[in-house]
Amino acid sequence: MYDIEQIRADFPILGRTVYGKPLVYLDNGATTQKPRQVVEAITEEYYNTNANVHRGVHFLSQQATELHEASRETVRRFIGARSTNEVVFTRGTTESINLLASTFCQSQMQAGDEVIVTTMEHHSNIVPWQLQAMQRGIVVRVVPMNDRGELLPGEYEKLFSPKTKIVSLAHVSNVLGTVNPVRELIRTAHAHGVPVLVDGAQSIPHMPVNVQELDADFYVFSGHKVYGPTGVGVLYGKENWLDRLPPYQGGGEMIQHVSFERTTFNELPFKFEAGTPDYIGTTGLARALDYVSALGMDSIAAHEHDLTQYALQRLREIPGMRIFGEAAERGGVISFLVGDIHHFDMGTLLDRLGIAVRTGHHCAQPLMSRLGIEGTVRASFGLYNTREEVDVLVAGIDRVRKMF
Ligand code: PLP
Repeated sequence: MYDIEQIRADFPILGRTVYGKPLVYLDNGATTQKPRQVVEAITEEYYNTNANVHRGVHFLSQQATELHEASRETVRRFIGARSTNEVVFTRGTTESINLLASTFCQSQMQAGDEVIVTTMEHHSNIVPWQLQAMQRGIVVRVVPMNDRGELLPGEYEKLFSPKTKIVSLAHVSNVLGTVNPVRELIRTAHAHGVPVLVDGAQSIPHMPVNVQELDADFYVFSGHKVYGPTGVGVLYGKENWLDRLPPYQGGGEMIQHVSFERTTFNELPFKFEAGTPDYIGTTGLARALDYVSALGMDSIAAHEHDLTQYALQRLREIPGMRIFGEAAERGGVISFLVGDIHHFDMGTLLDRLGIAVRTGHHCAQPLMSRLGIEGTVRASFGLYNTREEVDVLVAGIDRVRKMF
């Protein structure tokens, strides 16, 4: 059973107050809090097993290497990848996309070739492609959406041409909460012989994901958004794709042999992991994935769905409430504005009530332009949030509304 009190007890920070008020943490889209199990695993490794991985013959190095590679296996199992060769550790979603954009464009694209992204992308799935556009003359095409925040499949299909070389899109929007039908979008791309990168930053923490069932060619996410530590993330790639891509950065570990005349590269996944990896971070990430797996991704999804439906219903009762993102399939991210109250004022005043929400453009300025606004207030739920917290949020918004 989903014992919310017991779950909350695993997250010490949820017991603290801010400005003398109990903390209501609703900024999980930005980052999640960490359970004791994750923090303790990190401390334990620093205290007892710390040594550089893959390099030493000594006991500690071997133990640290085993832990690090066991973490890779935990990730593989969690996302349903075929092999640990397909699990590359990175610093996070942003680095994963930059790695892919850079190596894919370098090896698979020429000037004039096209990448398809969508209107609702985070900047980290726009700018890396724009950098490639500047450097190599590739072209970025954009899938439009309707006013509910759903992509238009017909328009998507129309964007494909022989020049289309890759599609890169978010599984779940960090602003609208829209859950994109990635399985179908991937099927369409594959029918045109085009691979797909899925940005899973906002999906991995909230729903079961199986990369083989989705048939995603690449899937990326960040550890810190799934109750793990900062500074570590994942790039999943089908082996036959990763094999075709050149290394991203040069350094230790990614090589097989180096001479001044000729250097050869290591096998997957190490080819993409130059330098000392964040092996402590990967341990923390693996414990976080163990933690959510023990609760069950289906149970987490059901809990957050209930919370989101309750929140939407309660928020709609507030006069002047405008919710951005009314997709039929949506996750636990709710962006809103109330009357003509500036999002920043709303966020600042809610903060004084102990409620942590996000305000601004949420690193999605093109989406803000499409919506015709500068920014929103965003409440985003995690596995530990409660209906009582939603009530505090609603009461807080109403109080701010009455002040204006
Ligand atoms: N993509 C989406 C959809 C996001 O929500 C975020 C973070 O908010 C990112 C990418 C970037 O993640 P990170 O900053 O962890 O690299």
